[in-house]
Amino acid sequence: MTPQEIQTFIKDVPDFPKPGIIFKDITPLLADSRALRATIDELAARVEPLGADGILAIESRGFIFGSALAVKLGLPLQLVRKRGKLPRESLSVRYELEYGFDHLEVHSDAIEAGRRYLIVDDVIATGGTAAAVAELVDQCSAVVAACVFVIELGFLDGRQRLGEHPVVSLITY
Ligand code: AMP
Repeated sequence: MTPQEIQTFIKDVPDFPKPGIIFKDITPLLADSRALRATIDELAARVEPLGADGILAIESRGFIFGSALAVKLGLPLQLVRKRGKLPRESLSVRYELEYGFDHLEVHSDAIEAGRRYLIVDDVIATGGTAAAVAELVDQCSAVVAACVFVIELGFLDGRQRLGEHPVVSLITY
């Protein structure tokens, strides 16, 4: 299945969660095992040559693709969660939302200095969320091997927000 065929399983939902936003609904893709397998196989083929040591999956839809990639590539999976969800000592980064701020956290021992990480989420929009996780990687003196997304909203130029960090995406709008 090509990325163009995979794209047919992503549904546009206008005005969700608020007016003016076209929400990219990946649930039909998840509901089709061939489409989901093709998505993981294609992403894995693109990131395998980057020689990553681990995966940082962003809550919550990033967990789905991050965990499948971790299994496929044989890499350790670490969870990047919203504030207050992780049970042990954590590192925190503050990031900007459209209105106000939020925090993302990882366990303090999740990111090892000098190691290379794939940051995984379903969608890159403005790039602010992935950039915050890249900041955590920098803080730990580790390396961003790539930021990996199923969907890129190219018109929002999130790549620019990620600066030098390589970006891998399957489907661009
Ligand atoms: P951003 O930080 O702006 O790149 O936003 C990325 C996060 O918001 C990801 O975790 C996405 O799941 C979610 N997101 C942003 N825009 C959309 C959209 N149009 N459809 C689905 N999810 C979105």
